[in-house]
Amino acid sequence: MHLIDSVMSMPHAFRKMTEFDEGPDRAWLVAGLTHAGWTANEIAHRTNCSVRLVKDIRSWDMTQMARFALEQITVADARYHAERSAHSQTRRELVLSRQEIQRVREQMDRLVKKVCAGEPIAKCYRGHPIIEGSTYRSRNRDYCRECNRENTVAYRARKRKPSDLQCHAICVSPPMHTPSVASAS
Ligand SMILES: [Zn+2]
Repeated sequence: MHLIDSVMSMPHAFRKMTEFDEGPDRAWLVAGLTHAGWTANEIAHRTNCSVRLVKDIRSWDMTQMARFALEQITVADARYHAERSAHSQTRRELVLSRQEIQRVREQMDRLVKKVCAGEPIAKCYRGHPIIEGSTYRSRNRDYCRECNRENTVAYRARKRKPSDLQCHAICVSPPMHTPSVASAS
């Protein structure tokens, strides 16, 4: 994240894209800047490389996992700050938010290690990575936490029309079998 902040704060990148390691550093840099709303052209200009290289890095699994992790952190962070400033929150909610941030960070670490080690990442049918901590168990089945979060958001948006709610039981049980599920998406 340090890397991303430095590049964003300087008019010209202190290093060219091609001077970064061809693995996680480039992935994190491109993921971070993309997450911050930068276009491929802007990233290419700032890091003195071709738009094609930026697009190639964006297509890496590692970059997509990094973007996913950044989005998760942003969501958890926003929730934490909203709760903190609302004054109506209980101490318990703050603890849960902190735990959520911690959980997401640990999940991200495991994800990055797996990607760096070249291990395949199982995904739920919506494409969320299935790793330790990204699922929860209920009635002997495993469910994707991110799908559950999305379903909750969708449910709230539609609760005036409950008949439209789609079945929210996304079975990813057991996680090790999910590659076949993922390929069906
Ligand atoms: Zn999912």
